[in-house]
Amino acid sequence: ASAESGAPTIFDKIISKEIPSSIVYEDEKVLAFRDINPQAPVHILVIPKLRDGLTTLGKAEARHAEVLGQLLYAAKIVAEKEGIGDGFRVVINNGPGACQSVYHLHLHVLGGRQMKWPPG
Ligand code: 5GP
Repeated sequence: ASAESGAPTIFDKIISKEIPSSIVYEDEKVLAFRDINPQAPVHILVIPKLRDGLTTLGKAEARHAEVLGQLLYAAKIVAEKEGIGDGFRVVINNGPGACQSVYHLHLHVLGGRQMKWPPG
């Protein structure tokens, strides 16, 4: 599917467990699982179970504020669970210019090594 088309993504199949993933945290609204192509020793994706128009952060509207907060809070829970609470990074790639490849909003939680800044 082309960028931001709103077509279903691979994450729908991960949510439905049609495609297996290594789940590290799950609640009613949020799912967190290990990235298949990790960019750090810990690399977890945190996604809303219901995309509800959030192909990208750039599509966020006021009604999404609650789930956006839940995603960020889940990122903190996941970082603590993974033992990287004192050094982790949360990234959202928004759109082609940021190399977003899956158009279902997701937070990357990265850690387990020294994170460089600027990220490039
Ligand atoms: P983006 O580039 O859109 O910010 O990040 C998408 C991420 O999803 C990439 O880091 C990629 O490795 C990950 N990814 C893509 N397909 C799968 C999959 O089937 N399973 C898992 N666990 N991660 C995936």
